[in-house]
Amino acid sequence: MKSENSKSPASWEKPQPCRQFRECGGCQLLDRTYGESLEYKQRILKKQLGSFGKINPILGMDNPWCYRNKSHSTFAYDPRKGVRSGLYAEHSHRLVPVDRCLLQDERADAIVGTVKSLMKSFKMTAYDEKTGRGFLRHVLIKVGFRTGEIMVVLVVTSHIFPGKNNYVKALRQKHPEITTIVQNINAEETTMVLGEREIVLYGRGYIRDTLCEMDFQISPKSFYQINPVQTEALYNKAMDMAGLTGKEIVLDAYSGIGTIGLIASRRAAAVIGVELNGDAVKNAQQNARLNRVGNITFHKGDAGRFMTAMARDGQKLDMVFLDPPRSGSNRGFIQSVGRLRPGKVVYISCGPESLARDLVWFREEGYEVREIQPVDMFPWTEHIETCVLLEFTPPAKSAPSGTPTRGNAGKPDGRSAGKAPRERSHSAPHPKRTRRKSS
Ligand code: SAH
Repeated sequence: MKSENSKSPASWEKPQPCRQFRECGGCQLLDRTYGESLEYKQRILKKQLGSFGKINPILGMDNPWCYRNKSHSTFAYDPRKGVRSGLYAEHSHRLVPVDRCLLQDERADAIVGTVKSLMKSFKMTAYDEKTGRGFLRHVLIKVGFRTGEIMVVLVVTSHIFPGKNNYVKALRQKHPEITTIVQNINAEETTMVLGEREIVLYGRGYIRDTLCEMDFQISPKSFYQINPVQTEALYNKAMDMAGLTGKEIVLDAYSGIGTIGLIASRRAAAVIGVELNGDAVKNAQQNARLNRVGNITFHKGDAGRFMTAMARDGQKLDMVFLDPPRSGSNRGFIQSVGRLRPGKVVYISCGPESLARDLVWFREEGYEVREIQPVDMFPWTEHIETCVLLEFTPPAKSAPSGTPTRGNAGKPDGRSAGKAPRERSHSAPHPKRTRRKSS
C-alpha cells in the first residue's frame, strides 16, 4: 500500500502524459517525477516547520494515480461547440473538457462518458449558464474503494426527469457496477454544485466504505476524505502518536463525520466530538450507530467556544485530536487546551502556514512538538497534510516554586516560546479558502 519515501526518487513514477495539464491547473506538480514532487513538499515543510523540530520523510503512495474516490464533472451547453463536460480550471469559471483525469478512478470517468453518450438518445439537454436553460448540470460520482460500491449523482434543473426508468436501465446496463443513482435538483443560479432536494432513482441513495476497520455511510452531501489509502496511513499514524490505552477521555475537535473520533473510540474510555456543520454531526451520529459505538458523543458548535466552556467547567480531558480547516484553529481553543492540560495533542493539518502559527500558541501553553509526520494525501498537487504530536511538558525544575508555570516562562528546553517561525497573527492566512479535501 503506502511506503516511506526511502526509495531513490529516480525509481519513482514518471509523470504520465495529461493532455489538460497546463489548461486545468489542478495538478501543479505533474511536470516532475513523483519523487521530485515529494522532495518539493518536504522542502516547503522544512521552511515552514523546521524550527519546531525534525520532520519525518513524507509518506508517499506506491501508486500515486487514480487515488480520488470522488469525481465531479460539470456539463455545459455551448451554442458553437454543443454539449461539453469537464472540470473548471483552478481558480476560474472556465470549463476545461476532460475525458480522463489521471487522479480519478477510471470507472468514474467511464460512467461520465456514458452519461454524455446517452444524452442524445434520451434528448437530454445540458445546462446553459447564460440562458439558465437545459437539464443536466453536474455528475458526481463517489466510489467506496473497499466495498466497491458506486454512487452516481445526476445534478439536474428539474424534478421532472423524462424517461427516467429507461435512462436508469440504460446506464446500469452499461455499468452494472453502479450500486445507487440519485437525482439532485439544483435550479438555482449558483456556484454550489448540489441543491437541497434529492430523489433516489436506484438503490439505497448512499454507499458505504470501510476505513481503519470502521464502516462509514456516504451520502451525496456528506464529506468524506478523497484519498482513502492515504487517509488510513494518516489516521494510523495519528493513533500511534496518541498511544491510547483504553482509559483516556479524548476530544475530537473539528470532527466532521466523526472518522477520527470513531477510530479512537475503540482505544479510549470516552470520546467527545465537536463540529460546526450540523449535517456532518448527524452523519457522525449515524456512523456511531452503524459501528455500534456507545462511548462517543458528538456536539454541534464552534470548537473554540466548546473548548472554552469545557475549560470553564474544569472537565477532565486526557488527549485531544484536532483536524481543523486550512485556516487552522484559533488562540481561544489553544488557550483552553492549555487550561485543561491534556497530556497529548495530535494536530492534523492541511495548511502548513496556519499550523506553524498554531504550534507557537501551543508552545506558549507549555506543549512541545515531539514528532512531525507529513503524508502525501493529494499527490501531484501542491497540498500538504501533516500530523504533529505535541506533549504537555512540565516546566523545568528551575521554575520558582512547585506550582507549574504557564505561558512563556519556564520552558523545559529554555527556549523562548515567543520565537515564531512567522509573524504571529490572529487572522487566518486564507480565511475565505475552505479546505480542498472537504469540497
Ligand atoms: N476530521 C474530519 C474532517 C475535518 S475537516 C474527518 O475526517 O471527517 C474540518 C472540519 O472542521 C469540517 O468538517 C468543518 O465543518 C469543521 N469546522 C470548521 N470550522 C469549525 C469550527 N470553528 N468549529 C468546529 N468545527 C469547524
